[in-house]
Amino acid sequence: MTPPNITPPPLRNDCFALPAGVNWTPVDEALEMLRSRLTVVTSVETAQIGQASGRILAEDVLAKRSNPPQPNTAVDGYGFSGAAPEGPQVIPLQDGRAAAGIPFDGVVALGNALRVLTGAALPDGVDTVILEEDVTVQDGHIAFHGPLKQGANTRKAGEDVAEGEMVLPAGRRLTPADVALLSATGIAEISVRKMLRVAVLSTGDELVEPGNLAGPGQIFDANRPMLLSMIERLGFEPVDMGRASDDREDLRDRLDRSAAQADVILTSGGASAGDEDHVSALLREAGAMQEWRIALKPGRPLALGMWNETPVFGLPGNPVAAKVCTLIFARPALGLMAGEGWSEPQGFDLPANFEKRKKPGRREYLRARVRDGRVEVFASEGSGRISGLSWAEGLVEIQDGACHIVPGDPVRFIPYGSFGL
Ligand code: AMP
Ligand code: MG
Repeated sequence: MTPPNITPPPLRNDCFALPAGVNWTPVDEALEMLRSRLTVVTSVETAQIGQASGRILAEDVLAKRSNPPQPNTAVDGYGFSGAAPEGPQVIPLQDGRAAAGIPFDGVVALGNALRVLTGAALPDGVDTVILEEDVTVQDGHIAFHGPLKQGANTRKAGEDVAEGEMVLPAGRRLTPADVALLSATGIAEISVRKMLRVAVLSTGDELVEPGNLAGPGQIFDANRPMLLSMIERLGFEPVDMGRASDDREDLRDRLDRSAAQADVILTSGGASAGDEDHVSALLREAGAMQEWRIALKPGRPLALGMWNETPVFGLPGNPVAAKVCTLIFARPALGLMAGEGWSEPQGFDLPANFEKRKKPGRREYLRARVRDGRVEVFASEGSGRISGLSWAEGLVEIQDGACHIVPGDPVRFIPYGSFGL
């Protein structure tokens, strides 16, 4: 059969345009726009300190009590007053002792020593402690070699934190160490931001739920479980809104319900400008859609819009792009809306164990991990290669300009942990 006489499309007007990406929004500009346009959306509630780890402080916290609250001994030993001079010292031992929580209720006479145990409040008449390992005790006396400075082996009241001092600022996401600090300074209850609720919705006729039967042409929904678990690990409240088929009414209904149940919506798939890209089509129809052509690989356009006054991040469908866009764009944006402020992930400059050439005009993130102090990257840059996401322990950030990286060159590695994963 002779093929029909169809003329292929003419050369595009932009066929001489600069390398792809040059007219696109650089990552840093896109981030700056998000940062300047978003604000905190969560309200405030009270939390008990035992439930506060991972929560975000709604106001500065001041110490109710100093840490330590009183001068105390840092070691087990013997306490007395003043410095001990150079040479052998013999000091009479007074009856009694001071232990943590059981103070000595008397005065240690000048020239006497008293048994003291770690954490004990220094009794009146004691400002210096000799370590028990450096002492011989005999016949009601202690003997040791000087010199010893006044104040040795003691902790001063408030040397760590003084009462009234600001211990943690508003916006802080509390770590286990912060919970210790708050407890030590007498704080049992704090004002925190309510959890930011983040709805996660997959889109695509090809998607089936893992565990169900997948027919020809169908694939399992991998993004939704990934995104839900990322949201949880990042410290937000995931809201599972299921899968929408490539059908406007189904998607519209799920967006309505998502907006009612969550503060922000993350969708994956259907965000470009094709026939089956219903997320961007619906957002456009609602009159609140911005297609952000961000100069980023992996990442196709990001659809940003509002649905019933709820911000929507229309992420790409490819799992690798969905994860990278979530980490690079959604994570700081969600943090800002949740009340923790804008944060940039800490990267580390380490020698590359790979070669890579790149044209100018876009930022790239490669799946990477560190072995023997060198950064290796996943063998394929294909954005459907989920195994590479799992293989990686972080991303390598390659700046927007042209580059030719050879083994040994420093590259910026950002561990997943720096993002909060
Ligand atoms: P789209 O952005 O909808 O054009 O999707 C881009 C690619 O990502 C297609 O190959 C989709 O099948 C795939 N994809 C979309 N959503 C998911 C998902 N939830 N899990 C795994 N792959 C997906
Ligand atoms: Mg799709």
